[in-house]
Amino acid sequence: MPASAAYRTALDALGEFLRDSAGRERPVLQQKPLAALAAEMDLERLIADGGLGDGAFRHFLDAYLGAATRLYHPGYMGHQVTIPHEMGTVAALIDAVTNNPMAIYEMGPSAATVEFTVINWMLRKAGWRPAPPPGGAGGGEPCGGGVLTHGGSLANLTALMAARARVAPDAWREGTPRDLVICAPEASHYSIARAADIFGLGRKALKAVPCDGDGRIVPGELAPFLAKLRADGHRVLAVVANACATAAGLYDRLRDIAEVCREAGVWLHVDGAHGASALVSARERHKLDGLELADSLVWDAHKMLRCPSLCAAVLVREARWLDSAFHDDASYLFHDKEQPGVDLIHRTVECTKAALGLKLFMVLAAGGEAEAGRFVERQTDLAREAAAWLRARPDFEVAAEPESNIVCCRVAGSDALQLRIRERLIAAGSHYISTAEFRARRWLRLVLMNPATEMRDIESFAAEVRRHRDAAGTAP
Ligand SMILES: *Cc1c(COP(=O)(O)O)cnc(C)c1O
Repeated sequence: MPASAAYRTALDALGEFLRDSAGRERPVLQQKPLAALAAEMDLERLIADGGLGDGAFRHFLDAYLGAATRLYHPGYMGHQVTIPHEMGTVAALIDAVTNNPMAIYEMGPSAATVEFTVINWMLRKAGWRPAPPPGGAGGGEPCGGGVLTHGGSLANLTALMAARARVAPDAWREGTPRDLVICAPEASHYSIARAADIFGLGRKALKAVPCDGDGRIVPGELAPFLAKLRADGHRVLAVVANACATAAGLYDRLRDIAEVCREAGVWLHVDGAHGASALVSARERHKLDGLELADSLVWDAHKMLRCPSLCAAVLVREARWLDSAFHDDASYLFHDKEQPGVDLIHRTVECTKAALGLKLFMVLAAGGEAEAGRFVERQTDLAREAAAWLRARPDFEVAAEPESNIVCCRVAGSDALQLRIRERLIAAGSHYISTAEFRARRWLRLVLMNPATEMRDIESFAAEVRRHRDAAGTAP
């Protein structure tokens, strides 16, 4: 099948997929058993015999898209996964076709230039000095630096590698010193705990920072906490703050935390995978006030900046720490060469890497920063309106006033009841939500990622929840 015909078939099928998802006609999610789906898509026969030509291709696509989770459905409120901006999806196609794995400049000069430029844009948003172009005037104050990676989890690991390079410069050769600990709120994303495992420190090296009932770091208790760790013979690899935390979307108070970390000479890493996009809104950026005093930031463009998965940025205030995070030597890649651009390979876990920056660039270039900012504001406003509306229903409780696009609510009854309601709700197919633990209870969690979701979808969600609650019984 010629590429042009395959594109046309795919575009036709995707067009229908988008239309009937947005029209609320098909279920958001329908989980058929794996074996039945494999048979429906005829996977094994196609692998063995080939023949994904004209008719078979369309047949396969219909089966595949028919069983896909429909993020474009306004009832999609499940996870922090974006509903991609159309220009981001076009960028993903351009990246697939050109396939320039641009970790070294010569394998994708245009892709590397785009990444260099979007990283500098992000550094400026964070309040840090952008990197000068290669050959440009260095010197003076240290510059920021960054790199795009395949996801926030890898980005968190990479940022903590940079922190390790500062506190233990020989760790790349000698191994991670056993006295290092990572300090993070219990509400941190699990990738922080995994980083402790990956460093070989184990989970015992993850120290829970004192937090309030909402899971936010209490800045006033941080200094004595760090002093106690030091007295007990530990060295702090980094303090991690959330901007915002995954479960309920609440932000830590960065300025107060950063001041304590500076005083103690400790690296402050800000996990802004979800919430750093507030930096693009003049109205919302105050939530990250004080970020400029931190040492590193993770910012996923594939969450609130509407890039298709994946595009995650690791940003550091001083580029040299990221540059010394990995000391590697692959003679065919790393050698002195005269070149007009930059190699990014020494900053990443990955070797081959997608042209991630193109997606972010094309989304931003479509509507400019203003459109990106308006999207963040619209979703935040919707979350606040949804929380106020739910709070006004006597049978709903809301966990916290939303600070992002995440709303946690529940009906009277046990944690098990909330889980049963969610199960029934997603089986019915009109809404897709997640749940989260917060304040030691389980909540129904709405993550309002979809620009097409409206208050009527929140109202129909509440009606569905009542229906399933009554059907599931109110006990125990
Ligand atoms: C989503 C998220 C992550 C993980 O990012 P991925 O891109 O899914 O790997 C890390 N931290 C926070 C706070 C997040 O919200």
